[in-house]
Amino acid sequence: MEFSLSDEQRMLVEMLRNLGKKEKFDQLAVEVDRTGKFPHHLIEHYAKLGLLGMTLSPAEGGGGQPNINAILAIEELAKFSPMIATPVFESNIGSVRVIDSFGTEAQKRALIPGVVKGELSVSVCMTEPEAGSDLTALTTRLTPDGADYKLNGRKVFISGGGEASHYLVYARFGDTPGYKGIGGVIVERGAPGFSFGKQEEFMGLRGMPSCDLVFEDVKVPKENMVIGPGNFKNLMTTFDVERCGNAAMCLGCAGGALEVARSYAMQRQAFGRPICEFESVQNLIVDMAMKLDAARLLVYRAAVGAGRGFPSMHESAMAKCFANEMVSEVTSAAMQVLGGYGYSKEFPVERMHRDALAWRVAGGTVQMLRITMASILFARRFDQR
Ligand SMILES: Cc1cc2nc3c(=O)[nH]c(=O)nc-3n(C[C@H](O)[C@H](O)[C@H](O)COP(=O)(O)OP(=O)(O)OC[C@H]3O[C@@H](n4cnc5c(N)ncnc54)[C@H](O)[C@@H]3O)c2cc1C
Repeated sequence: MEFSLSDEQRMLVEMLRNLGKKEKFDQLAVEVDRTGKFPHHLIEHYAKLGLLGMTLSPAEGGGGQPNINAILAIEELAKFSPMIATPVFESNIGSVRVIDSFGTEAQKRALIPGVVKGELSVSVCMTEPEAGSDLTALTTRLTPDGADYKLNGRKVFISGGGEASHYLVYARFGDTPGYKGIGGVIVERGAPGFSFGKQEEFMGLRGMPSCDLVFEDVKVPKENMVIGPGNFKNLMTTFDVERCGNAAMCLGCAGGALEVARSYAMQRQAFGRPICEFESVQNLIVDMAMKLDAARLLVYRAAVGAGRGFPSMHESAMAKCFANEMVSEVTSAAMQVLGGYGYSKEFPVERMHRDALAWRVAGGTVQMLRITMASILFARRFDQR
């Protein structure tokens, strides 16, 4: 069992730490939250640094690196803000991995080089107004139309909606009920009949493009099918890696909050002493550090164990669930350490707490993750219907 980073990984983390200081990512994070505008200029910058598609297949120009390298990069950048880490998340851990793993050669050639250069991006489109946790109830439908398909339906809460160039849409092929009828197809922005709803207003993750997608008789060529019906397991397998990315966002967010709280506790005076001399404040900080470290071990275990492939379902579900709850607690404790300033926009911890609360829903709720883990622990399926 190896618990230390390689020289290459240490250099990656160090490079990103220096980049954040040089580019004043702390100020950028405040600006993105205030304006709600995504920092697009980072994409080109990250592409030049080789941070985009670092885990994708080398045959198509990807970096061929293990998952853990992307996880480390996401964690480091998310210490400033998840928005600053998003391009690295999307291009390494997001739905482009489905195409990298299960797509046709033509699909990979068409998308992966563009993702690596920061010119293209792929959003994952599963959730519908009446089907979130219960994904197998989705009704967005593909019906045969000559040699192609016609797509009809509506998706909600789609991250990257309106801005991504491509959309991996989970839909039902024909009338086959349940998971057996579900597959995934690529739809390009601009396809006739494909439109976007208004930008979602979330309490946190401000700046993240998110909206409804509407499909009205959208023609989808047969070549755009990535995963056909009957292969639902493949669609869900790729989700295990996305869970680790989501959890890495939590590690970063909690790490950022811990650092703010720790340095504040050394400077803030009360009763003539720095508040870090009070045992209750020490306990708050120590508990934050302990929970963060425990989550980090779970996330790294899942990512390292997977190498360049997909993590185990159990390890990734456990890592995401624990990290999702950890980041809510750690950012809340950071606010407490800062007293009134914790509740003020003058300091970043209130933003970090707002951002933190998204992860326990996005990418699957902590309740649903527990159901996944229960089915593994009891070695049986618990049908929720
Ligand atoms: C910031 C953000 C980003 C997102 N990005 C995307 C995206 O890019 N693409 C995408 O497709 N979706 C995205 N989503 C949607 C997200 O995946 C769903 O919100 C999530 O899966 C939950 O679905 P729901 O909102 O319909 O809640 P519901 O499924 O209606 O659940 C409501 C509550 O009931 C609980 N619940 C439901 N069923 C059970 C059960 N059987 N047992 C116990 N509890 C249960 C849930 O845990 C939850 O607490 C995003 C959401 C957020 C908040």
